[in-house]
Amino acid sequence: MDDIDLLIDLHRKAARQGPGGEAETRLAITLSGLSGRRDLTIADIGCGTGASAIILATSLHADITAVDVLPDFLTELVRRATAAGVAERITPLAASMDALAFEPSSLDAIWSEGAIYNIGFETGVRDWRRFLKPGGILAVSELTWLSAARPAELEDHWSRVYPEVATASAKMALLEAHGYTPVGYFPLPETCWLDNYYRPMQARFDEFLAGHGGAAAARAIVAAERLEIDLYERFSAFVGYGFYVARKRAD
Ligand code: SAH
Repeated sequence: MDDIDLLIDLHRKAARQGPGGEAETRLAITLSGLSGRRDLTIADIGCGTGASAIILATSLHADITAVDVLPDFLTELVRRATAAGVAERITPLAASMDALAFEPSSLDAIWSEGAIYNIGFETGVRDWRRFLKPGGILAVSELTWLSAARPAELEDHWSRVYPEVATASAKMALLEAHGYTPVGYFPLPETCWLDNYYRPMQARFDEFLAGHGGAAAARAIVAAERLEIDLYERFSAFVGYGFYVARKRAD
């Protein structure tokens, strides 16, 4: 089994594939101003098994295209959406976020939780803008420094793994530079990382390793996750996910 199949196996059964939470998705919906509007067209990019897509479908009057590059995650999303009674409002789409084929100016909102890092925040906010209607909403969560200075060990790790990590003010300046007005920001609370993401993942490690006969590639994946969890536990005061809600400017 190659690394991608191993990662699918570790994450497919999870309620979410990245840090986040139902209350936080709902808060971003409130900030977006989309509530109460009708016939919305929304894309959830890097949707995983549907954590946010299903909340969007249950809280808004919207058709949602749920995009992920991994069809296995979309299969699980359809199962969950069916169980939640919203399958007819969610269209799964297996596609890469760097090659999306939405019509220009066709979307009321682009949602993307814990996923834009795959192409980088700046590339994502720049390239996805054309799909939004004027005034359309971009709602993304993104790795963010929570303070002006960080411990060197933490800075070294994330600067290597995700060089675009930056403060919220720097991320908002990028949104402004690329034709958006920021309308809301909040950092995800620790519970979104620990209770909703890392603890359930840790609970799957033993079964995952046993299922792959303790293969070196499986052990390497678990070791990397453990390192990241340890860093987060020690340094959560300095790093987290910021949730950014911004409106596309007409100019
Ligand atoms: N939004 C979900 C998943 C976050 S994990 C949640 O919050 O639970 C990041 C997701 O991005 C994964 O599902 C992964 O398969 C997807 N992904 C990675 N690279 C991608 C790409 N190039 N295009 C589309 N999706 C991608």
